[in-house]
Amino acid sequence: MSNSLRSSAEQQLSRNPRLLAVHSSEEILHELKVHQIELEMQNEALRQSQEALEISRDRYIDMYEFSPVGKVTISEDGLISEINLKASSLLGVDRANLVHKRFSHFVAKSDVDRWHRLFLSIKQDSTLKEQHFEMSLVRGDGSAIDTHLHCLYRQIENEAPLVRLTLVDISKFKKAETELRIAAIAFDSQEGMMITDANAAILRVNASFTKITGYTEEEVKGKSPSILRSGRQTNQFYEQMWRGIHQTGYWEGEIWNKRKNGEIYPEHLTISSVNCRKGNLTNYVATLTDITLSSAAAEEIKRLAFFDQLTGLPNRQLLMDRLLQALASSGRSGKVGGLLFIDLDNFKTINDTLGHAIGDILLKKVADRLVAIVRQDDTVARLGGDEFVVMLENLSESPIEAATLTEAVTAKILDVLNKPYLLATGEYHSTPSIGVTMFNGKEQVMEELLKQADIAMYQAKKEGKNTVRFFDQLMQTSITDRAALNVDLRIALEKCQFKLYYQLQATHTGQPVGAEALIRWEHPVRGLVTPLDFIPYAEESSLILVIGQWVLETACNQLKIWEGDPLTCDLQLAVNVSSRQFRQRNFVEQVLAVLNATVIDPSKLKLELTESLVLENVDDTIIKMNALKEIGVRFSMDDFGTGFSSLAYLTQLPLSQIKIDQAFVRNIGVRKSDAVVIQTIIGMAKSLEIEVIAEGVETESQRAFLEQNDCPLCQGYLFSKPVAIEEFEALMMNDTDRKQR
Ligand code: C2E
Ligand code: MG
Ligand code: MG
Repeated sequence: MSNSLRSSAEQQLSRNPRLLAVHSSEEILHELKVHQIELEMQNEALRQSQEALEISRDRYIDMYEFSPVGKVTISEDGLISEINLKASSLLGVDRANLVHKRFSHFVAKSDVDRWHRLFLSIKQDSTLKEQHFEMSLVRGDGSAIDTHLHCLYRQIENEAPLVRLTLVDISKFKKAETELRIAAIAFDSQEGMMITDANAAILRVNASFTKITGYTEEEVKGKSPSILRSGRQTNQFYEQMWRGIHQTGYWEGEIWNKRKNGEIYPEHLTISSVNCRKGNLTNYVATLTDITLSSAAAEEIKRLAFFDQLTGLPNRQLLMDRLLQALASSGRSGKVGGLLFIDLDNFKTINDTLGHAIGDILLKKVADRLVAIVRQDDTVARLGGDEFVVMLENLSESPIEAATLTEAVTAKILDVLNKPYLLATGEYHSTPSIGVTMFNGKEQVMEELLKQADIAMYQAKKEGKNTVRFFDQLMQTSITDRAALNVDLRIALEKCQFKLYYQLQATHTGQPVGAEALIRWEHPVRGLVTPLDFIPYAEESSLILVIGQWVLETACNQLKIWEGDPLTCDLQLAVNVSSRQFRQRNFVEQVLAVLNATVIDPSKLKLELTESLVLENVDDTIIKMNALKEIGVRFSMDDFGTGFSSLAYLTQLPLSQIKIDQAFVRNIGVRKSDAVVIQTIIGMAKSLEIEVIAEGVETESQRAFLEQNDCPLCQGYLFSKPVAIEEFEALMMNDTDRKQR
């Protein structure tokens, strides 16, 4: 027996002496042994439970610290009192720096208010013991994480209440959710989409697929895309397509498919195979675009490319195409055709004065009239602006008969285009100039033919407009192409080949009052070239500015000379001004400079402007005219009556003269209406107190009519043609001689 056992037995005996009386000492010893064993067992149980406690505590710590969710305990006043490792790693801040920090400090700005409201409500409302919500938190480095928060309010007896938070990082889910949303939007795009499994059984289709094919998702789910087959492609085609997909993972092409209603339509199809991460094929994704519409668009594009939008007539490109065919067919059949180039006279004036909208209506009407008179097989095309081309085919094998037939058509065109046009602003008269060239398909170049017709048209314009001219080789030589003309004009300037001619302006008794300066080109080969043959070309470039300046200087020098001679000192000199020249910013200064250099009386200089020039920009015109009028320069309105002489602007312009256009004068005694126009112009000029002069006076009867109708001044061949200065001065001498006699 151990000492401890003995002493414990003695203790028991001393406390309980009856034991001695009842039990023998052996029994007592046994009892004590049993008791000792019991005690040892109790000890062992205690140790074991202690050990179990430690294990479970360790497990708790492991579970708490290394849990995949963050755990935070927050005191009632919002401070972090406890936080596990996961939560501190989620927030990216050391645990030591988190304890006693305010939790709201880590809530994203956008969610802070919400957090405070939630925290408050969970503390105040005992029914809200548990709460779930999503919240954006800010990490230590400033980056944001999306979290799911689970909040638990705990009130433990004798302790301050606290809030336990469980925190799960849901950033990845959020991102995936956004991507899914985008994918869903993309899936529901304008293109039809179809997703199949690896065996090409349809899994999903989008709304556009249904719109294009007519099949809903329910109708096609599990089916093969072959239900869309139209039968227009061969099996070989599909085999090739699948081979392409298997080899490259992609196929793209156009294909005929069939809609649910049986309609066959063209479709642009792409098919991509989709593999999983391991590389196994999982799906096919197809996009389909209905290109039926695009075919309509292609038609529209064709229409725009080959037809003139305004009139609907074939454009230059289509004309050239047809001309090429016509040449080939004419070459085969031996039948001659005719090419007519039609340009409207004075169209620019209509556009400038009545506006483009009215100009457009006129062009449409012209187109309609042309189409109405030619045969169905002939072509009427618009090249642009007021230029039309008519191509007559298969006329005759005889060139003379073909030309006669063409002439008959041009006569009809002249007649029909001369008929009045009813435009929005009233009735309007327009005339065409027509150039013709014939073709027989033998060694003829298209562009050359068109140029020939153009040259002939130009000749028609030159010869008085509203007429027809057939191209002949002589015309070709008389009019070189524009590029060559340009070079020639530059040489003309350098070599001083320009000359001013002077045409007398006089009273009915032949009393000279002045002259108009008219430019001539003394060409070393072509002889005297009229301004109509080069001024329009010079106006296309800045050459007109140099030429205009030369004319102005020469005219003012001439005035200076005239001032010094009593015979000519009262003469005025009219100078034509081009639009481009007048529109220069410093036009006024240029005129002033010439006047100052020559020191002449400015009132002797008369600048001739046309109506279309004035109307291009009335405000600018008025400013410049007034500036020059101030120093005495005079202005005459040239070719008056051909444009749209509107009283409204006429009264605003500081004009000193109106020139009745020769087109009206020519028709005195021929067309009554032109005589009325002349009388009206004279009456109007009188009431506005503007001087009036008639140009192109060729006959005595024209002069007499003008005199009877109170037009005091004339210019025309009846008095004198435009002549060189020597001849003009001789004319003055003769006049004085006549008077002295
Ligand atoms: P315009 O200013 O109307 O000049 C009148 C035209 O009529 C001149 O033609 C003149 O020779 C012609 N003419 C005069 N009387 C008669 C007649 O009785 N019968 C006929 N059939 N014709 C007559 P020209 O000289 O060929 O000039 C043509 C146009 O060229 C001028 O028309 C003018 O617009 C322009 N032009 C002439 N010289 C110049 C110039 O120096 N500068 C500018 N910018 N243009 C000029
Ligand atoms: Mg003139
Ligand atoms: Mg004129």
